[in-house]
Amino acid sequence: MRVSVALFTADLRVHDNPVLQAALKDAERVVPLFVVDTGIRRTGFAGPNRAAFLADSLADLDAALRARGGRLVVRVGDVVEETCRVAAETGAAVVHIAGGVSRYAARREERLRAELADGRRELHVHDASLTVVPPGALTPAGKDHFAVFTPYFRRWESFSVRGVLPAPDVVRLPDVGSVGLPRAESIASGPTSPGLPAGGESEARRRLRSWLAGPLSVYGDRHDDLAADATSRLSPYLHFGCLSPTELLHRARAQDDPGAHAFVRQLAWRDFHHQVLAARPDAADHDYRPRHDRWRRATKEFEAWQDGRTGYPVVDAAMRQLRHEGWMPGRARLLAASFLTKTLYVDWRVGARHFLDLLVDGDVANNQLNWQWVAGTGTDTRPNRLLNPLVQARRYDPRGEYERRWLPELRHLDATAVHRVPHLDAATHAGLDYPAPIVDLAEAAARFRERRGAE
Ligand SMILES: Cc1cc2nc3c(=O)[nH]c(=O)nc-3n(C[C@H](O)[C@H](O)[C@H](O)COP(=O)(O)OP(=O)(O)OC[C@H]3O[C@@H](n4cnc5c(N)ncnc54)[C@H](O)[C@@H]3O)c2cc1C
Repeated sequence: MRVSVALFTADLRVHDNPVLQAALKDAERVVPLFVVDTGIRRTGFAGPNRAAFLADSLADLDAALRARGGRLVVRVGDVVEETCRVAAETGAAVVHIAGGVSRYAARREERLRAELADGRRELHVHDASLTVVPPGALTPAGKDHFAVFTPYFRRWESFSVRGVLPAPDVVRLPDVGSVGLPRAESIASGPTSPGLPAGGESEARRRLRSWLAGPLSVYGDRHDDLAADATSRLSPYLHFGCLSPTELLHRARAQDDPGAHAFVRQLAWRDFHHQVLAARPDAADHDYRPRHDRWRRATKEFEAWQDGRTGYPVVDAAMRQLRHEGWMPGRARLLAASFLTKTLYVDWRVGARHFLDLLVDGDVANNQLNWQWVAGTGTDTRPNRLLNPLVQARRYDPRGEYERRWLPELRHLDATAVHRVPHLDAATHAGLDYPAPIVDLAEAAARFRERRGAE
């Protein structure tokens, strides 16, 4: 009897899962395996919010496999050792895994390949699992990846994307032992955000259906409107692979309206950052384009930023939402990151770390490379652009609703008054339980230009 292992990583789903499908195709019995990887804990990447979402997602995956006659096999330990152990115990000839893009994933793949080969077993890596276009599938002439989004997007749009794979009807396991499903606290300890979304493929598919049925059509016009909350909120489901980006693309394209076009472009950004990281894994912590920055330490200002107490309401609202939900919309991330790296001139790595501690969709490719994009050390073709938080607030939160939603101490004010708060004199400010601005924007802009050596 032929056995294979489907090793789940960031693809926690039964629909459109190339790893699971390939494992089922080449064997009569399949071990759907998840290893609670103690190595990831050592990298400091396992935040409590993501641990809670992961625990939900594993329970949901187990239920989906049980409905098909199988179950999820869980082990705890070093992912390579545990996978090889399961393969040996069950006599599996092949282990299937999705191709990852981080340094950690590359090393895991390399070790798995070598250690499985010692037992005369094979590793099959499926590259079209975690992104729509496999990293490295599109390259400009003479280069190993695209460094600019627009030409990448042009090629990405005409890429021949694989079709959507059905969920299997039946999954049959060999005789194999498993520990129980992990609880969130055993993956990462610490408090979770109170407004955290529920994880899992069932929840992802429910959200996908309601997203396609309505809000998607106005995405183009409203995705930057902070108060409208008009983005898909699918990012954590994409991060953990509860939803396949390929299926999402096909289903969005089938809508064929301007909202869908704008949305599909965002999925291309996700692929873009993945292909950059695959080619330059060190971009997770080194400047992609060094600008010889002499970053400030500014501990007090950094803490004010973390706590949502900078005195700039739109930045503070964003940072409070992050703490409360473990998530924020893209525009809010841009504003908050720009304020830290350009207005306060603090190293992007420090801000990216804080985001990773809290974000439920926290992702090495998307987080680190978006931070670099904002800081001007990444792929932005206008690396020295500065976002003014007052102008941004008037443009993307004209009625001050988003600011007042997240800042209870300003809730009694009307829209124009919220926007005037950073300009109040000291005496008027004293009447509010809200800080005066921690930095003068004109001085900050001059400092940034001088230190960056920018025009
Ligand atoms: C400083 C900073 C840090 C970020 N960190 C992360 C992160 O850790 N994880 C993460 O998934 N995204 C990150 N993003 C990208 C983006 O902000 C989020 O993906 C998006 O806000 C998630 O909300 P949504 O699902 O409602 O997005 P929608 O607007 O509905 O977009 C749909 C999907 O497209 C993808 N997407 C959208 N914008 C981007 C982008 N700029 N880069 C890459 N993919 C994108 C996401 O997968 C998203 O779920 C970051 C952006 C910035 C500026």
